[in-house]
Amino acid sequence: MKKRFALAIAASLLFSLHIQAQQPAADADTVIKAVTMAMGTARLRSVQYTGTGSINPTGQAYTTGGAWPRYTVTKYTMSIDFSLPAMRQELIRIDDAKVPRGGGAGGYNPQTFQGGIRPIPGDIIQNNTIDARATNQNAAIQFWLTPHGFLKGIAANMATAKTATVRGKKTLAFTAFGKFPITATIDGNNLIEKVEALVDIAFTGDTVLDGAYTNYRDLDGIRFPMHILMREGGWPVLEVNVAQVSPNAQAAIDAVARATSTPPPAAPAAPAAPPQPVKLADGVWQLVPNGEGSILVEFKDYVVMVEAPGGDAVTAASIAAAQRLTPGKPIKYVVNSHHHADHAGGMRAYVAEGIPIITQESHKKYYEEQIFKNPHTLNPDRLARMPRAPMLEYVKDKRVITDGNQTLEIYLMKDQPHAEGLLMMYLPKSKLLMQADAYIPRPGAPPLPMPSPYTTNLVDNITRLKLDVARVVQIHGGSSPYSEVLTAAGRSVSTN
Ligand SMILES: [Zn+2]
Repeated sequence: MKKRFALAIAASLLFSLHIQAQQPAADADTVIKAVTMAMGTARLRSVQYTGTGSINPTGQAYTTGGAWPRYTVTKYTMSIDFSLPAMRQELIRIDDAKVPRGGGAGGYNPQTFQGGIRPIPGDIIQNNTIDARATNQNAAIQFWLTPHGFLKGIAANMATAKTATVRGKKTLAFTAFGKFPITATIDGNNLIEKVEALVDIAFTGDTVLDGAYTNYRDLDGIRFPMHILMREGGWPVLEVNVAQVSPNAQAAIDAVARATSTPPPAAPAAPAAPPQPVKLADGVWQLVPNGEGSILVEFKDYVVMVEAPGGDAVTAASIAAAQRLTPGKPIKYVVNSHHHADHAGGMRAYVAEGIPIITQESHKKYYEEQIFKNPHTLNPDRLARMPRAPMLEYVKDKRVITDGNQTLEIYLMKDQPHAEGLLMMYLPKSKLLMQADAYIPRPGAPPLPMPSPYTTNLVDNITRLKLDVARVVQIHGGSSPYSEVLTAAGRSVSTN
């Protein structure tokens, strides 16, 4: 699985190296004209297409370095206005995996009672607007990854346009924003069968996004693929079996206009005050009480940071908070509960500071061969600018850190479906259990049709280890009496 990821990157590098030695823009222009003609792009001002398929939230795999979790898409509509350009994607996904594995539930939404934990009940509406007019580089690259959008992109970037023949197939390529290589592979009928872009993903570094376009249909001279498969890092993120295509549809223009005329959510008038840590027990602070954040545990001569979410900025803020709360005590370890991007994104910045990471042994290969090794040339983070070898220590089932007074116990959650190798952390002195993504409070929501297997597994592990838990602390914010977790797991509250 990891090999596939590595191969995708290697292939992309080969592409760009190969193309550098290739023909100049004049030859590219001839190929662009032929492909534009065959695709009917010049006549395409808008398109709306519908279908069904699947979507896979990234950074939320069950296995470390494995496939993103799959949600079925029961309704999919894409509207593109090429004249702006901007796109509106509207879809309904359902969490219908027989055994849910991995993340991707998103945050808890008090309006819909959805999110927070899997399986998510009901239809999940997920809409987004990709306005490529803005200076938002990601939006433009998303647009250029579409087959007709690629031709618009290369036409607007002719100074960097190149053509080549790779493994017997013609390619067209250009460089977006001076650094992102975008390459299309052309089939024997001059149709675009694949578009590939090398982009920056904060957690994985230089990462390949690609779209494979097949089963083209001729709609009065405009060619459109009836099968779309998008991937990130070699793993699917979206598959659409297109049922209907409407080129030059007013409905597409209207849908994009509605979406782009809706003002974006108002930015807060003043910058939000930095979160104030909350003391959970003697020597224990939740650094971001109402949201995702680290938990600081104080020992006699040092501190331990539990979890490294976010990225460089969150890590810097957490280190500053530790210095204020426990002046003069070094951070001896960062404990990483699991490999999801929202929990591990800040690790690289701790490594840049020379702080060791403790994680589960199943994460070894992914961290050592990808997360701490992938190039970050497109948008160098702190570790890329200050390279340093990571110090990684691995937990199998249990690890204890103690100074005789404060004790932190780290346990593998056996058979936990949220993530392979998920760790939970226990403080026997304060009876606090710190956990990620196995239980999320759902205030106001009716009980789930069935208790989440993620939460029942949390209770099973606490029971198996005979831990005396008073409160459960969520890495995503807040803490709950253990009785609430037992209720969510469908277990009666035992008094002895
Ligand atoms: Zn997770």
